[in-house]
Amino acid sequence: MNTPSHLILNLAVLRRPVSPVMTWPILMGAVIPDAALFVFYAWARWQGLPEQTIWSTAYYSQPWQDIFAVGNSIPLGLGAIALGYTLKRHWLGFVGASMVLHHLGDLPLHHDDAHRHFWPFSSVRFISPVSYWDVDHFGRLGATLELVLVLVATAYLLPRLRFRVSQGILSTAVVLLVLGYLLLVRPLG
Ligand SMILES: [Zn+2]
Repeated sequence: MNTPSHLILNLAVLRRPVSPVMTWPILMGAVIPDAALFVFYAWARWQGLPEQTIWSTAYYSQPWQDIFAVGNSIPLGLGAIALGYTLKRHWLGFVGASMVLHHLGDLPLHHDDAHRHFWPFSSVRFISPVSYWDVDHFGRLGATLELVLVLVATAYLLPRLRFRVSQGILSTAVVLLVLGYLLLVRPLG
C-alpha cells in the first residue's frame, strides 16, 4: 500500500473519539514500516541511480532488504503493544497497533515486493497474487481496493477532524492518491 493510504486507514480505525485521541502515535506507527524506504530512495537518488534501476534492482539488494525487514516486522509491532501495555505507556501501544495494522494492510497487496513480515523469526514472505501497483499482478484491482478503502476512511474521518488544517492535509493527500490511481489505471497506448 502507499504510505499516505496507511496513515488515513490507520487513523480511521485506531483514532479514539475522546481524548487522548492518539493521533500522533497512530501516524508514527503507520510511517515506521516505510521509513527505511524513504531513506533508501534518498540514498538511491544521491547515488544517481535511474528510477527504473532503483525499483527493479537496488530495492531488492542487500543490505536494504534486511533493513526493510526490521520495519516490516509484525513481531516487533506486537512487542511494542506488549511493552506499552506492561509499562502503561498507552501511546507506545498505539504505535505498535498502528505498525501491525500497516503490516496487515500490506500482506494481501504485495506480490514480488512482499516484505519479510515475520523477522527475526522467519524470512518467509507471503507472495500475494494481488499487487497494489503492479498491473501484471492484478495491480488495477489492488489499486482500486486500496482507493475505495481510503475514500471510505476519509468520508468517516473528515467530519471528525477538529482543525481546518488537518482537514486540508487529509483532502490534499486524498486528491494526490486519486491522481496516482488514475495514472496507474489509465490504459496504455
Ligand atoms: Zn508498507
